Order: sequence, then structure tokens, then C-alpha cells
Amino acid sequence: MEGDLCDVVIVGARCAGAPLGMLLAERGYAVEMVDRNPTGADTLSTHWIRWPGVQQLRKWGLLSALEKTGCPPIVRASLDFEGRVIAGGPQAGGAEAVTYAPRRTELDALLVAEARAKGARLRERFSVTHLIVVDGRVAGVRGAGPDGAVGLRARVVVGADGRNSTVARLAKSPVVEDRGILARSLYGYWSGVVEPGVRVVFRGRRGISLWPTHDGLTVVSLVFPPEEAPGPGRSALTEFYVSSLREVPEVEQALMNGELVSRPRSAAVRNARRHAHGPGWVLAGDAGHHKDPVSAQGISDAFADAGVLADALDAGLSGSARLDEALAGYAATRDAQRLAAFAYTCEQAELRPFGTDFLDDLTRTAGDTQATEAFLKTFVGCDAPSDAGWLGESH
Ligand SMILES: Cc1cc2nc3c(=O)[nH]c(=O)nc-3n(C[C@H](O)[C@H](O)[C@H](O)COP(=O)(O)OP(=O)(O)OC[C@H]3O[C@@H](n4cnc5c(N)ncnc54)[C@H](O)[C@@H]3O)c2cc1C
Repeated sequence: MEGDLCDVVIVGARCAGAPLGMLLAERGYAVEMVDRNPTGADTLSTHWIRWPGVQQLRKWGLLSALEKTGCPPIVRASLDFEGRVIAGGPQAGGAEAVTYAPRRTELDALLVAEARAKGARLRERFSVTHLIVVDGRVAGVRGAGPDGAVGLRARVVVGADGRNSTVARLAKSPVVEDRGILARSLYGYWSGVVEPGVRVVFRGRRGISLWPTHDGLTVVSLVFPPEEAPGPGRSALTEFYVSSLREVPEVEQALMNGELVSRPRSAAVRNARRHAHGPGWVLAGDAGHHKDPVSAQGISDAFADAGVLADALDAGLSGSARLDEALAGYAATRDAQRLAAFAYTCEQAELRPFGTDFLDDLTRTAGDTQATEAFLKTFVGCDAPSDAGWLGESH
């Protein structure tokens, strides 16, 4: 079966694909989004949307809808580096810099609902397996869903299908940088944890963070070097996760009345960037560049890609620019905007022990109100990240 020709097929309808669908549909383009998962299917995440991502949601008019889902606002942060604690309420423009850590079941469903409300179509449980190529240009996708095998023809195919992108593989998009897996993490949901905001604790080469999320739950992540990975089997994983948390007194204290209500899940993300476009195809979000979750950049970056790509596609599809040149412009902007974050994420994910100079600086920062405010502001992302990221020269 072959569908009608549409302007854009977007493979993957989450943080990159759904906002892109929304932005194109509201400009009048015929958009077909496909995803092999049902909308709002859970996916592993620390959930934190840093300030740039929150600002993007505000600009799209979606922040109040997110708040209405019951997502707790994060207005305080406590960052503990080997016992040096920087704590307070980050500010932006004289007001609280509120951020959020929504369950992806809620966030992704909200993004998809908005795209559909603007006119984008969605095929759920539809898995793309092939690209349609005509005269050397990608001209659609083939895949299978509840209606059986279907071909969808489009002027442009967007791969917003995550770090194991099928579109990138089928289009033979070259990997331009691959730093491999630098860290591993374990995640669990806890009930009964009462924290006034986010808490992050660094000890040795491990980092632990507690993020309040939906349903009164707190997602607690443990990041550690890959060589410390526990032995095989679920119980070894759970034992390693819980004992690693409980051996840090400050974390043990925070979890004292808490109960682990989910099986801990493990993640090990490659840090890699791909070339972003070719004839008739383009990549957005994790499909084009993915990195360790340690810097919590991925959601904000996927939102940013959606915004830049929507403008480029609008120019290319409306004829105000040549399509391939518009896509090349998007790719150049993406690289310019994301390269620093990619580099400092890799740096953070190496989990090297903090240097004495950095820790001494933190002691001074902790005793100085203005320096504390500036540090927290950079942590949440209110300042444009420097090339060294929010941790600066920490080794
Ligand atoms: C453990 C972990 C913790 C993280 N924590 C954070 C955090 O705290 N903050 C943050 O900003 N980022 C975090 N990230 C990164 C963030 O999750 C990603 O950057 C973000 O989800 C990227 O969005 P995306 O839309 O590009 O891809 P995805 O969210 O991966 O969505 C891709 C979609 O494509 C669909 N798909 C894939 N292949 C096909 C196919 N062949 N056919 C049809 N559909 C397909 C998938 O079903 C999926 O729904 C974390 C990542 C991990 C792994």
C-alpha cells in the first residue's frame, strides 16, 4: 500500500520529532509522524529539562500544559562535590529559574498531542524498515504497522528516531565523531522521598542525583565508570545500585523514608555525532548527535534542533531557498550550537576526580552569595554554556 505524497515524514515522535511536526503543521505543511511505540510509552531518562528547554516549551505555549500534568517545579538545587555544598534557588532575570523533570510518559504525550492538534498526522506502532529512493534522492519510507506494510512518500524524510536511528543507518549517514561509551548509569523510582528540589552528590568517580518527578516519585540516578559495572543478573544490579546509594551518608539520609518502587534500569550511551543531512533526508535530536545523560542536555538539544530544522524546512519547502541548501544550513547551525555541549559532556562523562583547585574554588563559592547564585545559574543553564560546560575546569 502506498500513501499520498506529503511534505515531510518524521520518523520518531518524541522530543525532536513531535515539536518539529507541530511547528511544520502549524505553518500549513502536510506532516506524517510515525513511531514504532505507542504515544507516551515510557523511556529511560533522568527527565531533567534544563532552562533552555524550559524556555523553548514556554515559547511554544506548552509550559502551562506541562504544569497542569502535575509535574513538580524544581526551584532549588543542592550540589555536593566531595562535601563542598553549593545550594540555593537559581535565578533568571530576577525571578526563580524554575525547571522540571517530567516523566517521559507525560512529556512525550503532551508534545504529540500538540502536534496532532496543529494538524500533523501520526501512525503509532509503525516501524520504518526501508527508505524509498528515487533518482538518488530519499523520497519516502516503507514500514509496517497495524495496517500492514505501507509506503509513505514525502518531499523530505526526517530521522528523529533516536540514537539507534534507522534513517541514519539506511541513509548511510557517516559518523563524524565517536567517543564511545564513557560512563554507565542506573535509574530507579522512589516514593516517599521529600527533597525541596534537586540534589546532586559527587563522591570519587560516582555521581548520584535525585530529581522530583510526576506522581510524588523521585528518580534517583547513579552514574559510575563502566569498569565498575556489577555482575550479570537483576539482583546483582539492584544490590549494586542500592548499596552504592546507601553508602553515601547524605544520600542514605535523603532516602531514609523512601522506598524503591521500580526495578533499577541501566543505561550506557555512546557519545557520537553523525553527518546531519543528504538528498531528501535529515536527522534531528539523538539521531544526529547523542551523548551521555550526565549533562542532561539531550531534551533541550532535541527541542532546539526541532526549532532550527522547522525554519530550514519551511525555507526549503516554500521555495524561498533551495531545499538542499536549507538542510545544509540547518546542519551547520546544529553543529555550531551543539559542538561545545558534546565536548563538555564527554569531559564530564569521563568522571575524573575533581582537582584540588576546583574544590578550593567551591569552598570559596559556597561562602559567597553572588558566586553561589552565578554557579547555580550556570548549572540550570540560564547562562549560555561556556565551552567547558557548567563544571568549568574541574580536574
Ligand atoms: C538514561 C538516560 C537518561 C537521560 N536523561 C536526560 C535528562 O535528564 N535530560 C535530558 O535533557 N536528556 C536526557 N537524556 C537524553 C534524552 O532522553 C534524549 O536526548 C532525547 O530523548 C532525544 O529525543 P529524540 O526525540 O531525539 O529521540 P528519542 O527520545 O529516542 O525518540 C526516538 C523515537 O523514535 C522511535 N523510533 C526509533 N526507530 C524507529 C523506527 N525504525 N520506526 C519508527 N519509529 C522509530 C522510537 O520508538 C522513539 O519513540 C537521557 C537519555 C538516557 C538514555
